[in-house]
Amino acid sequence: ETSDAKKMIEAHELLKKFYHHLLINTKEGQEALDYLHARGMTREMMEQFEIGYSPSSWDFAVKFLKGRGFSLELMEKAGLVIRKENGEYFDRFRNRIMFPIHNHHGETVAFSGRIVGEGQPKYLNSPETLIFHKGKILYHFHQARLHIRKHQQAVLFEGFADVISAVSAGVTNAVATMGTALTDEQARILRRNVESIVICYDGDAAGVEATVRAAELLSQAGCHVKIATIPDGFDPDEYIRKYGSERFQRNVIEASSSFMAFKMAYLRRGKNLQNESDQIRYIEEVLREISRLPNPIEWDYYLRQLANEFSLSLSALQQQLERYKKTQE
Ligand code: ATP
Ligand code: MN
Ligand code: MN
Ligand code: MN
Repeated sequence: ETSDAKKMIEAHELLKKFYHHLLINTKEGQEALDYLHARGMTREMMEQFEIGYSPSSWDFAVKFLKGRGFSLELMEKAGLVIRKENGEYFDRFRNRIMFPIHNHHGETVAFSGRIVGEGQPKYLNSPETLIFHKGKILYHFHQARLHIRKHQQAVLFEGFADVISAVSAGVTNAVATMGTALTDEQARILRRNVESIVICYDGDAAGVEATVRAAELLSQAGCHVKIATIPDGFDPDEYIRKYGSERFQRNVIEASSSFMAFKMAYLRRGKNLQNESDQIRYIEEVLREISRLPNPIEWDYYLRQLANEFSLSLSALQQQLERYKKTQE
């Protein structure tokens, strides 16, 4: 069992190096390299993230692995090759930009392959294997860990491209989930290393929904959560490419708001606060959110804010808050 895991990791390490070589030094990798350059990715970033290219062949990895003495049966379990009905094997990753995925010890345990240009599926990931559990891994965590400790903060992104851009923009404490919603385990891993988390997801509707879920999970895990919002439906990578590193650090990361401020902005959407019934509905919804906060200082703080904004008495708000708290017990 453990020797299987070792072999699987060894295969990933060897393939990673070869894919990288193909991207950087060969004609086969030229189109992928051009694509990455056009996206603004520097050679330095490609080296740091060990990005590669899997050739447009059905049996490149099959031959490569076989030639180095790996059992194809095991390589299928590692998710690198796929077995056909007739017993032959073929490569899972073909003609893709290869992002190696490391576990938290820095061992290469999986790949995510991006299509060169447009097309579906955009990203193809390794399946769950003996060495890769995507709900327990955060992309770039093995390299970000020290920076996270030093800054006493982690920044959580949706995609690999966002992490790579963020790091190139000086946000070295960047990690991402593996193309799925944040899991309980990932929240706990973060909490064990740091208290303060900035969520910096895509600015589209899906990103906003995912932000709410991730923030709730992280709060439950005991993290102090802040939300960085990206304007105009951009994602962090697009924002950095358009506006540059400094503006990203200053206007997005450092300007991140509290989860409550984010929720208030979210609850305001689609309401006309000049309208009486919308206003009352908004106040009730905010009160309900306040009642879910664990901390009496926060209750007081946001109640005062609401009272001021809508010229209400603090005692009326407190009474209603008490009711909401009771319904939760
Ligand atoms: P790019 O900038 O290269 O287009 P992205 O990171 O902006 O990529 P999104 O569409 O925002 O891509 O998706 C966010 C993340 O979700 C990706 O980084 C990837 O991990 C995951 N993802 C996206 N599409 C797929 C897919 N078809 N299959 C699996 N995972 C995917
Ligand atoms: Mn998205
Ligand atoms: Mn995106
Ligand atoms: Mn993107």
